[in-house]
Amino acid sequence: MPATPAWPPDSPPRLFIDTTLEEDGEIVIDAAQANYLVRVLRLKAGAQVKLFDDRTGEWLAELAHIGKRDAVLRVEGKLRDREDVPDLWLCFAPIKKGRIDWLVEKACELGVARLLPVRTQRTIIDRLKPARLKSHLIEAAEQCERTALPELAEMVSLEALLADWPDGRTLFYAAERGGGSFPEALAAHDGPAAILIGPEGGFTEQEDGAIRALAQAVPVSLGPRILRADTAAAAAISLWMAGRGDWTA
Ligand code: SAM
Repeated sequence: MPATPAWPPDSPPRLFIDTTLEEDGEIVIDAAQANYLVRVLRLKAGAQVKLFDDRTGEWLAELAHIGKRDAVLRVEGKLRDREDVPDLWLCFAPIKKGRIDWLVEKACELGVARLLPVRTQRTIIDRLKPARLKSHLIEAAEQCERTALPELAEMVSLEALLADWPDGRTLFYAAERGGGSFPEALAAHDGPAAILIGPEGGFTEQEDGAIRALAQAVPVSLGPRILRADTAAAAAISLWMAGRGDWTA
């Protein structure tokens, strides 16, 4: 549920429903979602709401009944199928709380298909809160009108990531030192892709060597300035989306 909804809403609000939606189906939404529709947006019975389930697509529903702590939505009809998001993964070393929330929100808005946290030698955040990150992903998807939620994978070590790297997937390695031109790399490498972003402390020399030794790895530069990890992630995703993603549609 977007924190500060536009007022008056210029289109029906959108909610993610974690169950398969179907025509004429009745959905009982939880207290938080009901509070958002009824008390934050002050919707009345009969109001329209858009729903998506990350399975079948987006549907239009009507606020059929308002209870004390919940509400019932009746599904009226399908608006569109679940989208095919571009095949891009974001592999990132976890960063501090506020910044990681921003990073996952932007990765969702920009169109990433899968987020893969990677533990590196200089990673300061050792334990993630997947539930909280997932709620940020859902909120961002509700706001940016995605119908497919990005997958949030379990955190892996850099060694494991490189050891199990899939053959046909290019790994664009954001290297603040010794990276090549990203646009040229994009022109040379189409197909399934991933972007690797290091921790605030950067990768160690040993890690840098191990990444560059991976056949599918392509070291790329994001310019002469040292970007914060979350900025680097947003910049790299945007470059890939503009060159290989669905921004050209
Ligand atoms: N502490 C590192 C240093 O001073 O070398 C900087 C790490 S930077 C804050 C975090 C990550 O963002 C890096 O590991 C890299 O993946 C990415 N990054 C930042 N600036 C970049 C640039 N100009 N080109 C490519 N990647 C960059």
